[in-house]
Amino acid sequence: MKSIQIAIDGPASSGKSTVAKIIAKQFGYTYLDTGAMYRAATYLALQHQVEQEDSSAIMALLDQFPISFGRNEKGEQLVFVGDVDITHAIRENQVTNNVSWVSALAPIREKLVDLQRKIAAQGGIVMDGRDIGTVVLPEAELKIFLIASVEERALRRFKENKEKGIPTDLERLKEEIALRDHKDSTRAVSPLKAADDAITFDTTGVSIEGVVAFISKKAKEILDK
Ligand code: C5P
Repeated sequence: MKSIQIAIDGPASSGKSTVAKIIAKQFGYTYLDTGAMYRAATYLALQHQVEQEDSSAIMALLDQFPISFGRNEKGEQLVFVGDVDITHAIRENQVTNNVSWVSALAPIREKLVDLQRKIAAQGGIVMDGRDIGTVVLPEAELKIFLIASVEERALRRFKENKEKGIPTDLERLKEEIALRDHKDSTRAVSPLKAADDAITFDTTGVSIEGVVAFISKKAKEILDK
């Protein structure tokens, strides 16, 4: 059966991973959360007190503790470095607030992009991130760029954090999201930006179901061609 590559990019908390997971399930495709990979590298850097900019130390850590994915009994995705489950640890504020400097390091990006392409080569894939449509999968049949206001995105992350028991201040969250967007969009390597052939979709005030329906329809149109 024909399968396609679906790239979903966008700024922090734009709903990418939530919709990407649902779409992957609908189409029976692999879901790859590339943000989790940069977060995993950041977790290792912090855990081992790596100096900022020291990409070779992080590269060595990634070789020693390779990133892998698994599933729990509820079917939820788990993230590991070596055999340590870091699924929850990578969502902590300390990782979130340090991920932009790690993800701006070219050697780290090269290594993770290589891994992302290998996973994509195995078949139908829904991948979310910042540079999927522009760099990782430039040939993806469907490219979606999700945006939403900072206020709405902060509120979404605030609710998510509350559910996970992570204490958060909403105003601070807004500032952190805006700062991370700025760093991700202005970095020299693979900055956050929509691919020329991406469909930009503003999810402000749109339900998850609404976003999923839109992407799903586009994917079906391509598959039916
Ligand atoms: O998507 P998420 O918010 O978990 O991503 C965390 C961080 O990882 C982003 O702020 C960005 O710095 C980095 N990232 C990236 N390229 C990707 C995915 C994430 O640089 N493809």
